[in-house]
Amino acid sequence: MASNGVLDARERSATLSRLASERFDVLVIGGGITGAGAALDAASRGLRVALVEARDLASGTSSRSSKLIHGGLRYLEQLDFKLVYEALRERDLLVSKLAPHLVKPVSFLYPLYKKVVERPYVGAGLALYDAMEGTRRPVPHHRHLTARGALRLAPALSPERLAGAMRYYDAQVDDARHTLTVARTAAAHSAVVATRVSAVSLVRGPDGVRVAGARVRDEETGRSFDVHAEVVVVCAGVWTDLVHELAGVRAGYRVRMSKGVHIVVPRSAVQADTGIILRTEKSVLFFIPWGERWIVGTTDTDFTGDRAEPRVSAEDVDYILTAANRVLVRPLTRADVIAVYAGLRPLVEPVGDGSGKGGKPTTKVSREHVVDVPVPGLASIAGGKFTTYRLMARDVVDAAVAGFDRPVPASVTEQLPLLGADGLAGVRAGAGRLAEDYRVSPSLVEHLLSRYGTLAGEVLDLIRADSALARPLCEGFPYLRAEVVYAVTHEDALHVEDVLMRRMRLSIESADSGTEVAAEVALIMGRQLGWSRRRRAAETRRYLELIAAEQTTPAVDAFVMGADAADAALAGVAAAG
Ligand SMILES: Cc1cc2nc3c(=O)[nH]c(=O)nc-3n(C[C@H](O)[C@H](O)[C@H](O)COP(=O)(O)OP(=O)(O)OC[C@H]3O[C@@H](n4cnc5c(N)ncnc54)[C@H](O)[C@@H]3O)c2cc1C
Repeated sequence: MASNGVLDARERSATLSRLASERFDVLVIGGGITGAGAALDAASRGLRVALVEARDLASGTSSRSSKLIHGGLRYLEQLDFKLVYEALRERDLLVSKLAPHLVKPVSFLYPLYKKVVERPYVGAGLALYDAMEGTRRPVPHHRHLTARGALRLAPALSPERLAGAMRYYDAQVDDARHTLTVARTAAAHSAVVATRVSAVSLVRGPDGVRVAGARVRDEETGRSFDVHAEVVVVCAGVWTDLVHELAGVRAGYRVRMSKGVHIVVPRSAVQADTGIILRTEKSVLFFIPWGERWIVGTTDTDFTGDRAEPRVSAEDVDYILTAANRVLVRPLTRADVIAVYAGLRPLVEPVGDGSGKGGKPTTKVSREHVVDVPVPGLASIAGGKFTTYRLMARDVVDAAVAGFDRPVPASVTEQLPLLGADGLAGVRAGAGRLAEDYRVSPSLVEHLLSRYGTLAGEVLDLIRADSALARPLCEGFPYLRAEVVYAVTHEDALHVEDVLMRRMRLSIESADSGTEVAAEVALIMGRQLGWSRRRRAAETRRYLELIAAEQTTPAVDAFVMGADAADAALAGVAAAG
């Protein structure tokens, strides 16, 4: 039976007791988009599912992407039609049915600089891109623009050499919120979801070979216990090789890490009413509209450092600024940069003959993601992209249950709107009445609908019970105090960074990276979680230290404002004792 999809951080010990005491059909390791998707796929087939995430949901790559749900124009150039077709199909399914509250169309301008050669080439590519969508088109068709038309839409572009442009549509998403919503939807199908629980080794069955679960460690207390499951599914992104190692298995592939950096600048720094995509020597550069800001990126460099905290270097920032400034009338400078973030792409490379432990070949390699069953009772997946997570989840669950001695239904997620999606059109149409009923502004209701869909009423109920929670958390942003409470009671937020980095995105949206409200967030969370004054101070300090480290770049440590703000706030916390 489906439960209500609430992940209540206050009920954490009950969740861990269930993990330790129940027997599961499937244990998923990793709470990024792939693991959340696998948990949902398996749970909605009627299987008993548990998911353990070592840190916070989406704290790995799945909160650090370009946040596009797209076919990927550059794969067309590589003639990878199947991949583009699949991704576009997923994009359209998400926009129209599975997550219309979260995945929204966005337009991009593709400026043309070589009059004769480029337009027919790019135009043909975009025509194909559009044609692959099929007939029920949830995003508009591409259009040709003259140079003047392009400048009207994007006055920020330098007119020099500009020969015209194409405008096409894709979609964008708050990646961390989407991942959380998928995990909550899995919980609504009775999956047990536990964060800050790491898999530390695998449990073997009586034959000593077959995997029968995992030993896990509660990262909050250090306590370890076993979780029993018929099959373990590894969705650990760039940590996959480490999980394979701790399990003592040799899989048919390994994961190569490639770092991608984005910078965030104010909307006013680049005048344009549309996103922009530019060709670069290696790949493409996006200007992605993000509320009152632009996200600009990305880079692509090999990485070997700390997976949990990839750092941004001065060279990364300068590369993005230089690439962007090639087409802008008013160049961007380091002083424009509000925030930076880096993510690690989990790229898969098959190894050896792809035969796992020397037996029959088990590795199924597709262009983008790889599924492997290196030992009975263990399936693992890596690679792919955010856009295709539903297909990845389906593939790894198919592989995982292939060894079951009973039939398991096929994936049903194509038919399964995420929490907050079902009935959205009706709730949107009645938004005015909702605002009247709860005595709040229509813009507040609009804000909540765009983040929670039809679950917005749950946040409004908190406001009805305590009107002080309707106050914004900080000036200049629509986030409410009620959303901090909701993050704890419904979205499993355990620490201040879970709220400011992922339930909200103040860490990259605000020039102070949310450091000024960290203590307030600790206060509101603490009321729910029973934190003492000392604990609140410790939680605040933990967030400030994270920001001071993440937003500081060697050699240019003054350029990101959030790092300075965090340093100042840390000095304040220290002075207060
Ligand atoms: C810069 C950049 C831009 C991108 N842009 C896009 C884009 O615009 N569109 C798109 O479709 N794709 C994009 N991608 C790709 C996409 O973001 C990734 O493919 C996707 O997020 C990977 O998700 P994942 O769940 O596999 O990995 P992750 O999100 O990293 O999740 C793995 C999780 O496993 C957990 N874990 C690890 N070890 C353990 C353990 N022992 N026990 C428990 N948990 C563990 C980790 O903490 C982590 O949360 C981008 C990627 C990057 C880097």
